Amino acid sequence: MSRVYNFSAGPGVLPETVLARARDELLEWDDAGASVMEISHRSKDFLGIAEQTENDLRVLLGVPEHYKVLFLQGGATLQFAMVPMNLLGGKKVADYINTGHWSRKAMAEAERFTNVHIGATSEDSKFTTVPPQSSWQLHPDTAYVHFTPNETIGGLECHWTPDTGDVPLVADMSSTILSRPIDVSKFGVIYAGAQKNIGPAGVTVVIVREDLLGKTAASAPSLFDYQKQAENGSMMNTAPTFAWYMSGLVFEWLKELGGLSVMAEINERKASKLYACIDGSAGFYKNQIDPTCRSRMNVTFTLAQSQLDAVFLKRAQEAGLVALKGHRSVGGMRASIYNAMPEKGVDMLVDFMVSFQQRHA
Ligand SMILES: *Cc1c(COP(=O)(O)O)cnc(C)c1O
Repeated sequence: MSRVYNFSAGPGVLPETVLARARDELLEWDDAGASVMEISHRSKDFLGIAEQTENDLRVLLGVPEHYKVLFLQGGATLQFAMVPMNLLGGKKVADYINTGHWSRKAMAEAERFTNVHIGATSEDSKFTTVPPQSSWQLHPDTAYVHFTPNETIGGLECHWTPDTGDVPLVADMSSTILSRPIDVSKFGVIYAGAQKNIGPAGVTVVIVREDLLGKTAASAPSLFDYQKQAENGSMMNTAPTFAWYMSGLVFEWLKELGGLSVMAEINERKASKLYACIDGSAGFYKNQIDPTCRSRMNVTFTLAQSQLDAVFLKRAQEAGLVALKGHRSVGGMRASIYNAMPEKGVDMLVDFMVSFQQRHA
């Protein structure tokens, strides 16, 4: 077996110990006599897994009592629609902060349900900055404010939590959730597709403040109703049991590691090493993002000599460093260094980048 260092943006790397445990438990979970994939989502065994998984996530993130935690399907993309369906409550406008690709996707979907008001945008800087809160101009009758704390494609991260007062703050945390401690009480809704920092694709975590429930548009399908999902323990229909179980193993792994403050230190160290390599390359590699807004999860960079892109990727692959190609919309390279990317993988990438530069500069 030769597992590579996988810098994929999503689905991304999973902790090897988690995969090994899932393998060991694959044919028979505990004493169930069957795989976790083969048992009823309503069985005592699976309900135990589901409850433990939710509890561990609550502990890791410090989710207050008055928030519901949902395990849904449809990815973050379905939340682009479910957020307005559930939160508008008769209001006619919602604010969106535009920091790049995923913000724009969220806005485009919300347009189907409401008037999107752009509270702030960093389009002028080609999405290399996060608009400071002092520049935000929210609509006076906005239902909520939506933002994307980590733009996975651009490699742009908001390192502070906006304060929107009484207006619910909604965050698409798909590519940053669990990378560092957050204060959940500052948010109305947090959502994240699992396949970056939580587990395998197929489950979506939604954390919603209870007082925001019950405003769902009457026409919304019942599966898309946060309140109904909350009342039914996210099991109105067959739950994505295997992805849910795998997420639980990832949460256990994070708890054993020491929780999110330990994870944050490791993530900071990993990202700093990569940015230091880029900044120290005398322009051979370049990161376009404002240094105060650089992502700790998705490190984007270009090669000054873009004709070297293909050979960079080829040599990296030969060195066991894969999926470094940047998103087609931005080009260049992107190293996604999610929680499960071992620090060793980042060290190997830095060594590779230094020697690649020595050979080609
Ligand atoms: C990956 C990603 C999405 C899309 O997630 P799906 O689960 O594929 O719908 C949305 N937002 C952000 C920030 C992402 O990184």
